[in-house]
Amino acid sequence: MNAETAHVSSTLSTAQLATPESRASATPMMEQFIEIKAANPDSLLFYRMGDFYELFFEDAIDASRALGITLTKRGQHLGQDIPMCGVPVHAADDYLQKLIGLGFRVAVCEQTEDPAEAKKRGSKSVVRRDVTRLVTPGTLTEEKLLDPAQSNFLMALARVRGSGEAQYGLAWIDISTGAFHVAESRLARLLADIARVEPRELILAENVFHDPEIRPLVDQLGRVATPQPGVLFDSATAEGRIARFFEVGSLDGFGDFSRAELAAAAAVIAYVEKTQISERPPLGRPERERDGARLFIDPATRSNLELVRTLSGSRQGSLIKAIDRTVTAGGGRRLAEWLMAPLTDPAAINARLDGVSSLIANGALCDGLRQSLRGVPDMPRALSRLALNRGGPRDLGAILAGVKAAGEIAALLDGADLPAHLTVASASLNALPEEISDRLSATLDDELPLLKRDGGFVRSGASAELDELRALRDQSRRVIAGLQLSYAEETGVRSLKIKHNNVLGYFIEVTAQNAGPLTQGDEAKAKYIHRQTMANAMRFTTTELSDLETRIANAAGEALAIELAAFDELVLLTVSHADAIKAAADALAVIDVTASLACLAEEQGYARPKVDESLAFEITAGRHPVVEQALRRQAEQPFVANDCDLSPPTDADKSGAIWLLTGPNMGGKSTFLRQNALIAVMAQMGSFVPAGSAHIGVVDRLFSRVGASDDLVRGRSTFMVEMVETAAILNQASERSLVILDEIGRGTATFDGLSIAWAAVEHLHAENRCRALFATHFHELTALSEKLPRLSNATMKVKEWQGDVVFLHEVGPGAADRSYGIQVARLAGLPDAVVARAREVLDLLESTERENPATRLIDDLPLFAVPVQAPKPKAEKGPSPSDAFLEQLNPDDMTPRDALEALYELKRVSSESRKA
Ligand code: ATP
Repeated sequence: MNAETAHVSSTLSTAQLATPESRASATPMMEQFIEIKAANPDSLLFYRMGDFYELFFEDAIDASRALGITLTKRGQHLGQDIPMCGVPVHAADDYLQKLIGLGFRVAVCEQTEDPAEAKKRGSKSVVRRDVTRLVTPGTLTEEKLLDPAQSNFLMALARVRGSGEAQYGLAWIDISTGAFHVAESRLARLLADIARVEPRELILAENVFHDPEIRPLVDQLGRVATPQPGVLFDSATAEGRIARFFEVGSLDGFGDFSRAELAAAAAVIAYVEKTQISERPPLGRPERERDGARLFIDPATRSNLELVRTLSGSRQGSLIKAIDRTVTAGGGRRLAEWLMAPLTDPAAINARLDGVSSLIANGALCDGLRQSLRGVPDMPRALSRLALNRGGPRDLGAILAGVKAAGEIAALLDGADLPAHLTVASASLNALPEEISDRLSATLDDELPLLKRDGGFVRSGASAELDELRALRDQSRRVIAGLQLSYAEETGVRSLKIKHNNVLGYFIEVTAQNAGPLTQGDEAKAKYIHRQTMANAMRFTTTELSDLETRIANAAGEALAIELAAFDELVLLTVSHADAIKAAADALAVIDVTASLACLAEEQGYARPKVDESLAFEITAGRHPVVEQALRRQAEQPFVANDCDLSPPTDADKSGAIWLLTGPNMGGKSTFLRQNALIAVMAQMGSFVPAGSAHIGVVDRLFSRVGASDDLVRGRSTFMVEMVETAAILNQASERSLVILDEIGRGTATFDGLSIAWAAVEHLHAENRCRALFATHFHELTALSEKLPRLSNATMKVKEWQGDVVFLHEVGPGAADRSYGIQVARLAGLPDAVVARAREVLDLLESTERENPATRLIDDLPLFAVPVQAPKPKAEKGPSPSDAFLEQLNPDDMTPRDALEALYELKRVSSESRKA
């Protein structure tokens, strides 16, 4: 290729390329490129040329920068150099991964005919090419591009405007596993509903994307949104599109869906069709999530509680890292799904818990299951690649290994006394047709190559014809060795070798000094045909050798054709059983999660929570699952377990209690707050919990406001973020909710903050009436317990020893009188002079502190009557003095002088009333 390094920073744009003038002067190949590029203006075009994907013009400049690869140029167009860069096809996945990670989309354009065919049309004709796939973040299937522990969801958001409020529908699929879910949503909870799925890509209609109500929500999700033409979201044609995809006459058997749900489901399907062109992933039928079936956790709470990643974005230190004992990729993904969307139906939660209990009771079965599960590869992803025509022999191998392990696991479960949850799973394993494993194991070799084009994956004995061809190939190798020996003897050149390369094929090689016997004499000249002279060697061939070569090449080609046909047959077989394989993979994931939760509970000494419809929240000896393990790893003091009881204080109470938690800095307040929220999440996902015992009446919504963060990009200061989150809680929490509030009102002036915290507690108590934990350094608030019947004070205990503070991390009843902030500051290494000065200032402030303002408020009872409605406008007062004065004047009776005096009087009255 005639390429040299180029330093180009600008070139012809896609629009400039598409002009008639540009097209008219393009070479045939460039004309083809321009046409395909014009149809895919938003994607980098990977244009297949031999063993490379080449990029041209702007794409080349962008990709070379993004990938750090050399930019070259290839000819000229419209008098300008054509920038070009390329990536080898065999390494394309690595480059794709990087580009997708950077937010690019890629259109992969393949040669759709054999170059030899193109030549038949004339030497100048261009090989036909077409885009075979659009690679986008939400439509990946390649192992290298995916995280085995994470689902890769593509989500569609559809909006349907009826007569009333707009309806929102969400549909999300993972084409790498076939999962397909739909749900309804509302504007108020849209962000939370999307965030809990963590889609890699969100598609929505252009007009919805630009809607001022929606745009800010989408922006908060980061760079995941891809606006699409509105026609993809048309609810009128939605049913037809879904039915066509699943090849059914109607959707009657699929369950009931709202119009918005259908529109969203049809949109994801349309997008799959748009990006996968002619291939179809094996999607399961859409599963509808009932409204309210999942614990609602808003995005702020989700990130504050560090469920699947810490606030800094790492998995290390998150809850999932601490509780994940799964041994399969599918199990790991399922655990994350359970954790991201805990349930709210006690029966469904208890069914999961029964599964965990049964495996704890039967430890040998649990160990056996985990042992067999270790052999389970990522079946659903392998299946998906095979169905999309992107699979290789190892994907078939993965199906075989998975099906075999499923058989082993079914045998282990057979006859065991299992709860319903595991019986259902075991039934799916037993339903796997034996044909799959029989045929795959009869055909596939034990060691499998990555790519089918390399051949060598069909075991010997599977096809007599293939065995024969292989024998010929092997035999030919022996014949070549024999030839080498006879030529060496004949010429007397002992170092003569027969070698092979892709250009010459088989050839005889001798050093230049030894070439004499092959080049001298008529007989030798006739036999040894000269092919190439190298610096130190000469290369020859013979008629015998080239005949043999043809035979070998033909045999290899025929053998490969047989293998490829066998591959296609096995893919067809596997894909025809896609539903059964997916159901089995699903069952294996559930068994893995259940066994892993049993293993975790045993290892960590967790207890089975009692989950019911009550409003109880009674935890004894609760621990923080992440901090507990961290302390153990660091061989620090063991974690101090603590009780928490937010159940309604008396049977007559229909609302939960509030604990107001005070205590020193570093005393463990945040840890205590979070641990109780995490215990609720774990219980409702169906896990045992880090506690001596736990009784939890299902929580419908979990809110937590902890820690301080700002959101400067969206123009929100730390305090503003805090208030936005607090507002969401006070507006949305119901009697069934659990609310965790940490240090409300710290980011503003003391009295402002105190007042906000005060009013928030009152509101939670009187209005939300939810179970709540409220940690604060405003000790004044503890006075509220005297007046609010369901509020109790709790404090983190501490000991003072020789002027230092010792944290006991123990929660007990009562209130702290101080925060020990200065002691903690000293521990943190504040300069001694600053610490000493701070003590002086504190002493001074404490000695001059006037009456505690809170005491005054407490005595002033009406303040506790929470205004149920917004304060009314000030009551109408009587007429002002000036009005009253004007009222008694009668201008018709007045002389000009009277009028002047009245004017003076009016000025006086008005100014006096202003002063008053
Ligand atoms: P601040 O008011 O300064 O924010 P805090 O009271 O919220 O502090 P935490 O951040 O919860 O305190 O805890 C401080 C540290 O104490 C934690 O990092 C943890 O290592 C330790 N800790 C907290 N609770 C316990 C416990 N129950 N047992 C043992 N160690 C604990």
